[in-house]
Amino acid sequence: MSAYTAKRLPRQTGAAGWNAILPPQAALPVLDHDLTADVTIIGGGFAGLSAARRLHQLDPSLKVAVLEAGQFAESSAGRNSGFMIDLPHDLSSDNYAGDALDADRAAIAFNRMAIDFAKGVAEDCALPQEMFDPAGKINAAATTAGDRHNRDFATHLERLGEPHQLLSRQEMQELTGSAHYTSGLYAPGTVMIQPAAYIRALSAHLAGQISVFETSPVTGFAKQGNGWLVSTPKGRVTTGTVILANNGHLESFGFYQRRLMHICLYASMTERLTEEQVRRLGGASRWSVTPADPMGTSVRRISGSCGDRILIRTCSSFHPGIETSPMRLRNAGWVHDRKFKERFPQLDGVRMEHRWAGMLCLSRNGSAAFGELDRGVYSACCQNGLGIARGTLQGIGVAELAVQGGSDIASRFLAQPMPPKLPPEPFASLGANTYLMWKEWRSGKE
Ligand SMILES: Cc1cc2nc3c(=O)[nH]c(=O)nc-3n(C[C@H](O)[C@H](O)[C@H](O)COP(=O)(O)OP(=O)(O)OC[C@H]3O[C@@H](n4cnc5c(N)ncnc54)[C@H](O)[C@@H]3O)c2cc1C
Repeated sequence: MSAYTAKRLPRQTGAAGWNAILPPQAALPVLDHDLTADVTIIGGGFAGLSAARRLHQLDPSLKVAVLEAGQFAESSAGRNSGFMIDLPHDLSSDNYAGDALDADRAAIAFNRMAIDFAKGVAEDCALPQEMFDPAGKINAAATTAGDRHNRDFATHLERLGEPHQLLSRQEMQELTGSAHYTSGLYAPGTVMIQPAAYIRALSAHLAGQISVFETSPVTGFAKQGNGWLVSTPKGRVTTGTVILANNGHLESFGFYQRRLMHICLYASMTERLTEEQVRRLGGASRWSVTPADPMGTSVRRISGSCGDRILIRTCSSFHPGIETSPMRLRNAGWVHDRKFKERFPQLDGVRMEHRWAGMLCLSRNGSAAFGELDRGVYSACCQNGLGIARGTLQGIGVAELAVQGGSDIASRFLAQPMPPKLPPEPFASLGANTYLMWKEWRSGKE
C-alpha cells in the first residue's frame, strides 16, 4: 500500500512583514473533522491557490479542499518581494537574460498567461492598485559592471522586441531619491503585488467557493481504495486526487529526494516614514528595483494604506533541512541596514520594523517538479525563484492536467527534464553556500 508521511513541516523565521502591515483579518477554519473531496490540495501559496481557482473554473461542481500548514500569507507566498515578472529572470546568469531567443519568447508568453490569471484574481477580489500594480520594474545598477549588465540585457530585450527604456543616473535619483544608482533599465510588464494582500484576498475569495483550511498541516497521505486518505492533526480528507503544491516540502514527503535546492532569502522593511522623512527621501512614492546583478539587492518603496515604507531584500543561504536560524536572520539584518544606509543616507535614524526569512526552491537545471507522481497524486512545485508568476502558472497547469488530462501549460512543465541530483552532504551545503557567498561578494554595491 502506498503511504507518504511528512518528514518535516514548514517552520518560519521572523514574521512576514507584508502580512504584519495589513489590518488583522479573521482566521480561516482549521480542519477539525473528516471530509470528502474530489481534489485535495496540499499548500496554499501561489501554486496551491491558483490550482484551486483553476479547478473551480474548469468544473464548479468539483469538491476541492485546500490544506495550508500555517496561516495564509505567512509562508513564502507572503514573504517575497512581490515582483510578478514577465521577462526572463535567470538568477544564475550575470544579467537575467536566458540563452535562446525562442525559449525566452515562450517563457515570456507563459509568464504573461500567469499575469492575466492574476489580473482576474485582482478584479474578483477588488484589490486596489497599491496591492496589484501593473507598474513594471527597473533593473538598477550601482557600478560600471551593473551598467554593462543593463546595456547587455537591453540589447537582449531589443532582440526579443520587448519594450524597455534605459534610465540615466539623474533619472534614477529623481525616481528613487537615492544617489546610489548609476543607471536603470525599465521594462513595463512586471506587476508589483503586495504578496500577503494578494494571498489573503485569494484564499478568502476561494473560501466562498470551495473548502479552504489554514493551520492544517498535512502529516501524511495513504492509498485508500481507488483514492487517498489525507491526514492532518485534527481531521482527514477522503479524496480521489491529491495535488502537492507545497514547493520545497515536496521533498519532505519523499519525492524528488536530493534533487531540490532549498535556498533561504532575507528581507527587512522599515517602520512607517514620517511626512518629514518622506520629504527628506524625495523621489516618487512607489517604485521597485531589482539589482542589475541578480545576486545584488532588491529595493521597493511603497506608499498607501500600509504607510510609506522601504523594503530591502538581499542575502541568501542554502538549507537542505528547509529551515534557517534566527542567527542567520540577524546577520542578514546587519547587511540590510548597511545597504539601506548606502542608498538612503538622508534617512539616518529610520528603523527596520520587520525582518524575516523565507525559503524558495530551485533545481540545478531550472526544471520544475511537476507531473503525476503516483496514481491520482500530482505535484506543482519548485518555482526556481520566480514563484509568483511560475507558481501561478504551475497551479493552473496542474489543475488542467488533473481535470483535462493536459494543456499547453501542463505540457510546458511536463517536457522539462528531471532536476539532476545534488552532491551528497556536506558537499552540497558547502559548495552551495560558498558559491552564494562568492556571488554576493562579487555583486558588491549592486
Ligand atoms: C524574501 C523572498 C523574496 C522573494 N521575492 C520574489 C519575487 O519578488 N518574485 C517572485 O516571483 N518570487 C519571489 N520569491 C519566491 C516566491 O516567494 C516563491 O517562489 C513562491 O512563494 C513559491 O510559490 P509556491 O506556491 O510554489 O510555494 P509557497 O509559496 O512556498 O507555498 C507552499 C505552501 O505549502 C505549505 N506547506 C508546506 N508543507 C505543507 C504541508 N505538509 N501541509 C500543508 N501545507 C504545507 C507552506 O506552508 C506554503 O504556504 C521570494 C522569496 C523570498 C523568501
